[in-house]
Amino acid sequence: MQLVVLGSGTSVPHPQRAASAHWLDTEAGSLLLDASAACIHRMAQEKLDWTGLDAIWISHFHLDHVGGLAPFLFGTKHSAQTQGRRKPLTIYGGYGLRKLFSAFDEAGAYRLLEQPFPVEVREVAPRTEFELLPGLRAHTFSTPHTRESLAIRLTNGRGTSLVYTSDTGYTEALGAFAEDASLFMMECSFWRNKPVETHLELEDAMQLARRAAPRKVLLTHLYPEWDGIDIAAEARKHWPGETLAAADGLRITI
Ligand SMILES: [Zn+2]
Ligand SMILES: [Zn+2]
Repeated sequence: MQLVVLGSGTSVPHPQRAASAHWLDTEAGSLLLDASAACIHRMAQEKLDWTGLDAIWISHFHLDHVGGLAPFLFGTKHSAQTQGRRKPLTIYGGYGLRKLFSAFDEAGAYRLLEQPFPVEVREVAPRTEFELLPGLRAHTFSTPHTRESLAIRLTNGRGTSLVYTSDTGYTEALGAFAEDASLFMMECSFWRNKPVETHLELEDAMQLARRAAPRKVLLTHLYPEWDGIDIAAEARKHWPGETLAAADGLRITI
């Protein structure tokens, strides 16, 4: 699997970090992990095949994670590049995802789910296992962030696994959920003295890394307070394993 960081930032406008979006190429197809407003242009900038995107995972409905969802579907509905597409697009997320599309449609009579190709919206429950793409298994985990927020664990046929927490507060069970992951992609909103319980600071994230013992950790969803700090070096003070700091454009083979 190959991961491309489209947006390593948050809702705060930042010159180098777009809001949350990550592209994953798998043997089974391509997957967008969250869809911030910037993601539609970031996919094009990274020369990714957005016209052939197979699936979208929406972790929760905060706008730094879904702000590009409606614009992307508005684009695929009307752009010349997607008029010939016939293969389906599946959009997954927690309870309320269908209602979100109804709200978008109501705002502008867009009929976003009526596309040149079939679109399926699938709401998934926490602690569910399902096949996200052919041969790509997915498990979900309810995170302490919003009512619908979910972490996801993706495993391919060879046992390679990616765990993506998206936004979350600290809960030890999340470390168990990520046990032995090939790549544990965690939010790490803050360095220390986090102002809210619904996000992680570095010590929280590294505590989860100790519990999960993944092959590699990738820290993303980085607020501007991280500017100028060597994130990987700070992480090593808490956990000796390999930690990478996300940056827009970073590519990782998992
Ligand atoms: Zn966020
Ligand atoms: Zn959030």
